[in-house]
Amino acid sequence: MARFLVDLMLMRLGRWLRLLGQDVKNPAGPGEDEGLLSLAKSEGRTLITRDRRLAEACRHADGKCILIRSSGIEEQLAELAEEGVPLVLKPRRCTICNAPLQKIESGSQEMGTWCCPACKKLYWKGGHWQKMEKMLQTVRSIHSRMNGIDQNEKDQQSP
Ligand SMILES: [Zn+2]
Repeated sequence: MARFLVDLMLMRLGRWLRLLGQDVKNPAGPGEDEGLLSLAKSEGRTLITRDRRLAEACRHADGKCILIRSSGIEEQLAELAEEGVPLVLKPRRCTICNAPLQKIESGSQEMGTWCCPACKKLYWKGGHWQKMEKMLQTVRSIHSRMNGIDQNEKDQQSP
């Protein structure tokens, strides 16, 4: 499974990626681009950034990088779906600190509850869950529209 590193501009996207079960690190504070690059390389993480120059530098250093083009969170997630990130809610990582979550056993299967062993934040399938599902539906439709457009462009290019 891919592991990621987001820059400070993409912290919100990073939290969403964790909701999708991805391992995502972020810098603790404003830092040097080089710090991000060496962290990505030493931990084998794919750097996600909107900074074109940082993306260039990453490729130059043989690192893996995804350059995000959109400013909206839905479009950004659709871009990552394009890179193979599944759009399914899967609480595995704390959205705040990225620690692996522990499932808390409860009577009913529906009411999944998870706890972060590091910062003690609780996660459960409440009303906000449906809101997140709805948001992902929007992302899925943007993603399929993106693919539709790609397909048309391919058709036009072929003789
Ligand atoms: Zn936590």
